Amino acid sequence: MSRPAVFLDRDGTIVEERGYIDRLDLLDVFPWTSDALRLLRRAGFAIVVITNQSAIGRGIIDEAFLDAVHRELDARLAPSGAKIDAYYFCPHFVDSRIDRYRMVCRCRKPGSELVERACRDLDLDPARSFMVGDRWIDVACGGGAGVRSILVRTGHGAHEADVPPDGVRPDAILDNLLAAVGWILRTREAGAPARG
Ligand SMILES: [Mg+2]
Ligand SMILES: [Zn+2]
Repeated sequence: MSRPAVFLDRDGTIVEERGYIDRLDLLDVFPWTSDALRLLRRAGFAIVVITNQSAIGRGIIDEAFLDAVHRELDARLAPSGAKIDAYYFCPHFVDSRIDRYRMVCRCRKPGSELVERACRDLDLDPARSFMVGDRWIDVACGGGAGVRSILVRTGHGAHEADVPPDGVRPDAILDNLLAAVGWILRTREAGAPARG
């Protein structure tokens, strides 16, 4: 049977928003992230990071460095027992000087392709899944994939929360990832997505 998942934006949601993270010392995990991820795991959710990484297409970092950032994040979470199951990223940039990254893609959020790909790869059930992010593009991505979406007021959410764009509606706006996890655990039994 398909598992439920929580799809998480990375920057501004599980770590501090620092612009392009091109050095490991810029990786600053929020103090509540480990607890939040552990609670999700205990509740049976797969945890999947969905992240736009145009820094790759822009030539600021390469895929090997992105992988190093994610291994470092794994290492910082491991002592508390928190674990991310998978990372999905969009490396594209429309004006990239690197041919394979130069495209208008469907995987860059607000596109939903990375969430859809993760659901296929990992046998995840969108109807019982959630997206959490600090930007409206995260909410739109989740909505497009048929998962319930929560905007958090960390990172860009501190100001974006007050200026919702037309046609994008979150299922909740909450202070941070830990509050979002509390909401998810209370809501999960409510059944099918509210929209549609
Ligand atoms: Mg973000
Ligand atoms: Zn892409």
